[in-house]
This record gives sequence, C-alpha cells and structure tokens, in this order.
Amino acid sequence: MYLRPSFSHERQLTIDELIKRVHSYYPEANTDLIRQTYDFAAKAHVGQKRSSGEDYIIHPLNVAATMIKLHADVPSIMAALLHDVVEDCGITPEEIEKTFSAEVARLVIGLTKISKIQFKTQEESQAENFRKMVVAMAQDLRVIIIKLADRMHNMRTLQYVSDERQKKIAQETLDIYVPLASRLGINSVKAELEDLCLRFLRPDVYYRLAEKVAMKKSEREKYISEVVSIIQERLQEYSVKAEVKGRPKHFYSIYKKMMSRGVDFEQIQDVLAFRIIVRNITECYKVLGIMHSSFTPVPGRFKDYIAIPKANNYQSLHTTVIGPLASRIEIQIRTAEMDEVAETGVAAHWKYKEGLVGKGNQMAWVQELLEANKSVSSNREFMDVVKNDLDIGGIFIFTPRGDVYELAHGATPLDFAYCVHT
Ligand code: MN
Repeated sequence: MYLRPSFSHERQLTIDELIKRVHSYYPEANTDLIRQTYDFAAKAHVGQKRSSGEDYIIHPLNVAATMIKLHADVPSIMAALLHDVVEDCGITPEEIEKTFSAEVARLVIGLTKISKIQFKTQEESQAENFRKMVVAMAQDLRVIIIKLADRMHNMRTLQYVSDERQKKIAQETLDIYVPLASRLGINSVKAELEDLCLRFLRPDVYYRLAEKVAMKKSEREKYISEVVSIIQERLQEYSVKAEVKGRPKHFYSIYKKMMSRGVDFEQIQDVLAFRIIVRNITECYKVLGIMHSSFTPVPGRFKDYIAIPKANNYQSLHTTVIGPLASRIEIQIRTAEMDEVAETGVAAHWKYKEGLVGKGNQMAWVQELLEANKSVSSNREFMDVVKNDLDIGGIFIFTPRGDVYELAHGATPLDFAYCVHT
C-alpha cells in the first residue's frame, strides 16, 4: 500500500544544508538558534565516533533532517540536535535550559528518559515499556516523533553493529516503534522502518525481493511511465487536473502479501502502486469513476478510506485494476492535503507557535491511554487496553478468501504463514 522508501543516511549533511531546508517550509524560523544548537552539540560530541567510524555529530544531524522532512518546529529541531548530549556527554538539563530554553530542555529530558527504558521481549515488560512511552507521548507528542527519527537513523546505519545487536534492535523496532509510527499515521517513517526491519531480520527475503525488483528495473520504469501517461490522458478528457506518480510498493508490504497468500514473488502481481493527487474530494470520486471505466477493477479490492478514515486519520480511495499488459496495479486517489496527512500523520499538524497540535483522533487516543494508565493497576490490563488500539497483539487477519485467523500477542507475518501452511 505504501511506496518504497529510500534509506538515505546522509553522510555529507551540513548544518547549512539543514537551515536551507528549514527556510523552504518555514521562512520565519529563527535559524540562528538552530545553528547555535548545532555548535553546542558538535562541541559536546567532539571526539566521539559512530560505529560506522563517522564523527558522532552526523547522527544528531540526520535525526534533525528527518524532523525537518516532517516540517518540524524550531524547538523540535533543536531537541533533535541535542537528543544525546545528556546521556552521552554529561551535559545537564539545567545547562540546556540556561543556554536555550525550558521547552527544549523538557524535550531532551523526555528523550533521555525514553532511551533509558530497557526493552525486553517478555510480554509483561513490553507492557511496562509501552506505559512509559505513552506517558512520555502524552506530555508532548514531539518527544515520540523525535524518538522515531532517532530510531530511523539507527536503523539506517545498523549494518555497522554486531549481528546479534542488529537482530535485537530490528525486532524491538518492529514490536514497538512501527506500531507507534502507524498509530500516529506517520507512514513515510513506518514504511521505511518496516523495510529496514525486514532487511535485518529476514535478509534472505529482503535481498531476494530487492534483486527481483531491480532485475526488471528498466522494463518496470517504462511500464510506469506508460501507465502514468495513459492515466493523464484519460483525466484530461474529463478536464481533471492531477498529479500522477507510480512506484513499486515497499518490500515489507510485498512480503506481507506473499505470506498472507502463501505465494512466491512471481505470483504476486500487483507490486506497483499509482497515486493520483487531485484538488478536492468530489474529484477523488470522479477520478475513481474514470479509472473504473478505463480499466477493469478487481472485485473486492476497492476501499473507501475517505468516507471511513482509518483510526490514524488516513484518508484515500484504494482500488486495484487490471492495467495495460493485463497486469494488476493498485491505484490510490486522494487530495493533496490527504496525501500530506498520509505521509506525515500527526506531524502534518505543526503550529509553529504552539508546537505540535495533535488533531482530534490522535490526541484523544493518547488521552485514553493515559486514563487507562491511571485506572488500571496491572501492566497486563493496561496492555489489554493498548492492544485494542495498536496493531501489536490480538491480531485478526482476514485472508483474501475471507477466512479469519486470530493470532496471539506479538505474532509476526511468519507465524501467520505457519498457521496457513504446515
Ligand atoms: Mn540517538
């Protein structure tokens, strides 16, 4: 469903480049403050190295870059740059407050606390971890988003740590950070984290998929541009102005599909997804009509997330059709605003004077969990509340044939595969 992400660990990233990017979406931002924060962090981390051998500061810079991609406010970018200085450099929160602001210090304290959570695989401790994460999140959603950006860069550079550590971090990411990114609707981060998890947890599957997709690259690109121009032509006939793009779906979603249908890559037909971005909702349905009259729709594959948005506010129309050359393609139709929310989720709602203002659903969700945190006594009960909401357990899976499987807490697509096949 989501498109293939790009693992872009930026080695040559500089603070000048970051500041340029901030100016592009937030011209009034006080970028002097960002530069001062960078100087402070670079000085604090001086002499420290990453496992990759690079200077440590490349890490906070990349975390800040992800925040900037999500169009973060200045305090979040500053906190991203400073997120490891308390833990790794012995800088005190008081010093951060004195040098910068109480707000930035609070964000860094939140991040330092989360990094001290010892994640364990036992169910009971996972519940405790989630409790702490939710409390941190309820105080300020920005803390969790910076934490996601931190984890993303660690995952992008995971090849430099030991095999054992790779597996542990990747599993923890899949168990804890992916569901959080999903619940907050930050699909760009979720899709990338999932692909990285697959790469380190199931390298055999990951590299086979990568190879297969790469092998057909030129053929695929030709096909994509052909389909894009056919769609554009059809839309022009009805005077609909739209942006149309196509890309392969991300590997993890192809992998999930292979598992759920019990099939091999060759049998997975719809690995390409096309996205049509229009100006308003009426046009979304109009375009759907045009697509269904131009291509044969595949029965049972149409979903209207505009009329019925997902719990994380995701909105879009999805359909699968038989495209040119008789191959199945998925088409997503939405407005530009829906597209922004789909990629960045709760992070689409920055108000630059008030930080991040969670919209309706998301804040209500955090509040509910917080209430649950107060009212239930055991971790087990709390987890029951959480699992009703996050995709982390008590999973119901609908097969393409309409059969329903219930899997236990923490089950993986692999468990599902075993449940369908012996
Ligand atoms: Mn970090």
